[in-house]
Amino acid sequence: MTSVVERLRGNETVFSVEFFPPRDDADEAVLWRSIRELEGFDPAYMSITYGAGGTSRDGTIRSIARVATETTLVPMAHLTAVNHSVAELRNVIGWYAAVGVRNVLALRGDPPGDPYGEWIAHPEGLNYAEELVALVRSLGDFCVGVSAFPYGHPRSADLETDTRHLVRKFKAGADFAIAQLFFEAEDFLRLRDRVAAAGSDALMIPGIMPLTTPRTLRKTIELSGATAPKSLLDRLTPLEDDPAAFRAEGLDVVTEMCERLIAEGVPDLHFYTFNRSKATREVVSRLGLVPARA
Ligand SMILES: Cc1cc2nc3c(=O)[nH]c(=O)nc-3n(C[C@H](O)[C@H](O)[C@H](O)COP(=O)(O)OP(=O)(O)OC[C@H]3O[C@@H](n4cnc5c(N)ncnc54)[C@H](O)[C@@H]3O)c2cc1C
Repeated sequence: MTSVVERLRGNETVFSVEFFPPRDDADEAVLWRSIRELEGFDPAYMSITYGAGGTSRDGTIRSIARVATETTLVPMAHLTAVNHSVAELRNVIGWYAAVGVRNVLALRGDPPGDPYGEWIAHPEGLNYAEELVALVRSLGDFCVGVSAFPYGHPRSADLETDTRHLVRKFKAGADFAIAQLFFEAEDFLRLRDRVAAAGSDALMIPGIMPLTTPRTLRKTIELSGATAPKSLLDRLTPLEDDPAAFRAEGLDVVTEMCERLIAEGVPDLHFYTFNRSKATREVVSRLGLVPARA
């Protein structure tokens, strides 16, 4: 089974896609239509997120198993430490290995219900993603990724502390990091510079969300944890009542940012798809990142 790092070895920038597990049959149909539509575009890998708690966790395991067995895509499963004992985590990692998933994005996760609430570790569980990286690594030949935050994780005291904790995840065995959403290429490039200055050569991958609607803009602002720059709001907010114009301008914004990131030699552009494929297909086509036959 090919690893994410092997897929990112070339000199050219590639792209990858992220989905979340389906909640019901209708969701499942949408997810699989999107997966099939993107398959011919040859993404470097595709990932499925891990629910904050409860049923969607089974959905992650089921969906990633289907990707591994029924598609040509390289699968990556997310995993969080939320509400899990180490024994349960070992079990999930064992399931991933059993269905042929060798790439894991190891995350600490947020308290269920309130992402900003107090983090309480499972009594027999883990406290930080760093420990999960070490656990996954200890259980087999896995390629492991982690999360990174261009503006610092909301719980980090400052960027220096945030960078130190990120580098600890690489020292624990992570091969690459995927960044949370950000507004301008420079915001990601500064994160990459901080990691390099701290002595790490781990692969840094920007996370990208196509700005197709006012809702995706609001989600980007919320997840980034930062204030959107005026230049971006000036381009998009006047178009909020005109869906077609907003979508066209939003995709221009994202394509321009990706062009800058490609010029800076990023190995991969990781698209948060919201389980839809059209906008991602449009952006990667404009960027020339797809095989001629797609
Ligand atoms: C690309 C990406 C994918 C994601 N996928 C999912 C998903 O599938 N499911 C989900 O529920 N959530 C997901 N998240 C959200 C993520 O779980 C949250 O952002 C969570 O708050 C942090 O997880 P982490 O792995 O970054 O935690 P950590 O790296 O453990 O960091 C958490 C906080 O603790 C600090 N810290 C880290 N190590 C130490 C240490 N040794 N000592 C003291 N402090 C430390 C960090 O600076 C940070 O402030 C994703 C985020 C990203 C960027």
